[in-house]
Amino acid sequence: METSEKFDTDIRFVCRGTFVHSTAEEALQILEDALLGVDSEGKIAFIGEGKDLQKLSENFGFSPSAVTQLQQHEFFMPGMIDTHIHASQYSYAGTALDMPLLQWLNTYTFPVESRFQDVEFAKKVYTQVVKRTLRNGTTTACYFATIHTDASLLLGQIANDFGQRALVGKVCMDRNDAVKCYRETSEESQEETYRFIKELLNKKYPLVKPVVTPRFAPSCTEALLAKLGEIAKNNKLHIQSHISENLEEVKLVKELFPNSESYTDIYHKCNLLTDKTIMAHGCHLSDEELVLFRKTGAALAHCPNSNISLCSGVLNVRNVLNHKVKLGLGTDMAGGYSPSILDAVRRSLDSSKVLTIQDPEHKTLSFEEVFRLATLGGSQALSLDERTGNFKVGKDFDALRVNVAAPGGPIDLIQNEKPQILLEKFLNLGDDRNIVQVFVAGKKVVPFSEP
Ligand SMILES: [Zn+2]
Repeated sequence: METSEKFDTDIRFVCRGTFVHSTAEEALQILEDALLGVDSEGKIAFIGEGKDLQKLSENFGFSPSAVTQLQQHEFFMPGMIDTHIHASQYSYAGTALDMPLLQWLNTYTFPVESRFQDVEFAKKVYTQVVKRTLRNGTTTACYFATIHTDASLLLGQIANDFGQRALVGKVCMDRNDAVKCYRETSEESQEETYRFIKELLNKKYPLVKPVVTPRFAPSCTEALLAKLGEIAKNNKLHIQSHISENLEEVKLVKELFPNSESYTDIYHKCNLLTDKTIMAHGCHLSDEELVLFRKTGAALAHCPNSNISLCSGVLNVRNVLNHKVKLGLGTDMAGGYSPSILDAVRRSLDSSKVLTIQDPEHKTLSFEEVFRLATLGGSQALSLDERTGNFKVGKDFDALRVNVAAPGGPIDLIQNEKPQILLEKFLNLGDDRNIVQVFVAGKKVVPFSEP
């Protein structure tokens, strides 16, 4: 039995049933007939065994009759973490997948993102994104917004209103020759980043924080990158960007930054690689670059749907993990067409199998390993693992109540199945109909109570 040191905690609620999660040692740990108590601050107060109900209820001062009992086909799992998602691209998710990255940005992305100057449009899109991702079990999202400060602040407010844990980034880009209506001057980019950070922090949202967001090296001057590195350092902030997504982009970066040793080196020189940095993709990073990631503590967001949809490349996750680089999963919506991390789980498994087809020596990722990447791995990649990622006493209770046999849902269970099978079926076949409740920091956020 694991308990917190405080025995005088007020217990908000207690659940009994199967809990599945990951630890550093085990990709999948299954706790059957477990009891988990959540305190008044939304933190996990204790995890024990069902047989100890009487003792736990005395120690923690709750009534055994108030315990919520899960059904046989149900389990709790940690909330899923989307380490890379463009909230501003939701309006065209599921379309525009017929071009490689650089052409795709100019043709589809920049014209749509420029519309977020209109806060009414932003409100409409961002509200739908937050609701859609929460319903799909994303309890933590690391968002790219657009270059517009007010609309980006609005995204933070909407995430807060719906109770989602979020990092929100106002995008910075002072170099964009193709679409001139969508770029800032270097001064605007710096000043608006300061304003964004200050105003978002002033809101004192408990679960929503700013993240310094250079779009990617090709759309930023070196001076701006260096300034953003300085801002992040002085304010101890998270950083997000993109790296080594496709080969044409890697070539362009070489041309734009002739004095840098590698793509990774550019960010490193500008103080943008820290243990609070998350870089999307990394499909074409060299082993030397991965070593630099490991040394600096920077993490990668693996976005397989996007990598396949835009024909960018196939990240060798096994190689990244062997280099002990932190890695989480991302949807990269709308480069990836799905807003659901369940899709990222499936595409991660598919991509790993493609690598095995190409090289039988490649060790395919197991579904348990990918489950860990979607939860604990994501929390580590975002340096939020002290707060979320698995069921540990003292962490916030970020959780999904999953009913594999939800009426009208996508899964038919023919017989009683063990928890491991239930999880595998949910990961491969499930959808939001199976996610009957979502909790963030101990608060039930799905089904919605409209703010
Ligand atoms: Zn992206």
